[in-house]
Amino acid sequence: MTSLETNLASISRSAPRHIVVLGTGGTLAGTASSADDNVGYTAGQVAVSQLLAAVPALQRRSSEGWVIESEQVAQIDSKDMGHAVWRRLAERVQHHLERPEVDGLVVTHGTDTLEETGYLLQRVLAPVKPVVLTAAMRPSSAAQPDGPQNLADAVTVAGLPGARGVVAVLAGKVWWGTEVRKVHPYRLDAFDAGDAGPLAHIEEGRLRQLRDWPTGTALGLQVLAADIWPEVQIVVSHAGADGRMVDLLMEAGVQGLVVAATGNGTVHQDLQAALLRAQSEGVAVVRALRGGAGCIVPTGHDLVPDAGALSAVQARIEILLRLLARRG
Ligand code: ASP
Repeated sequence: MTSLETNLASISRSAPRHIVVLGTGGTLAGTASSADDNVGYTAGQVAVSQLLAAVPALQRRSSEGWVIESEQVAQIDSKDMGHAVWRRLAERVQHHLERPEVDGLVVTHGTDTLEETGYLLQRVLAPVKPVVLTAAMRPSSAAQPDGPQNLADAVTVAGLPGARGVVAVLAGKVWWGTEVRKVHPYRLDAFDAGDAGPLAHIEEGRLRQLRDWPTGTALGLQVLAADIWPEVQIVVSHAGADGRMVDLLMEAGVQGLVVAATGNGTVHQDLQAALLRAQSEGVAVVRALRGGAGCIVPTGHDLVPDAGALSAVQARIEILLRLLARRG
């Protein structure tokens, strides 16, 4: 059987799997005071164990012999994600990945910074087992929450023989953790990966795979060990932009700067002058796309390096990790 055929095979026919679900909060665990309120909710209210218990498909998996453990790592709105939770999460992911009996992990997360956590976990851990991020666009109290289906799909993908790397499972699609990005504030199908497209579709518990699983070299958990992380900020190039923000950040001791650039990585001349000054003083500076799909195409006379297809927030993490790795 080819790997594609293996992936097309019904998951329910595979041997029972052992999955660990780590909860961090988000809308998936959010509640509102009324079932028809999809936006006025508080994220991170319901324990991950309770969320799992409410998904019939997962109860069925358990009755088929699957082991689905859970651990509450954090309970936050992911807009408030920070270094301490990231470090704790990466440590717990690593811990469970090292357990031989565990086949795969699911991480429940808010949608707002899911692309940042996905990027960080893949670059730091590059796991050979699957680590599946999932989230929801409607709170658990909604009349039609999307979380239960996303959770069921995420557990399915985490249990898939041959799956590996950090991926995200949302609204029936599987994305690479380093490529996925939130592109819509409300739609259930709120994620995209620019030109790269999804890794797979998940339909009725079956994976229709389009691309290979993510691979890479792990920087290692030790890069996150420092108590104080380097300061890396994002500035935006726009009509009327100038270099004042860069100058202020330089005075404050910034160590890395990402410029969210217009067009094909272009930067307002006044902002560019300030960025070049920062670069010459040893600050790591990189250009990333301000929005949309695609990849910055090098012109051959670029003065500031580009981040390719990375979003500005992912480029920020790349710079952060490189600075941390350099310290070690
Ligand atoms: N603000 C929420 C969060 O990121 C949004 C969500 O999960 O959809 O936690």
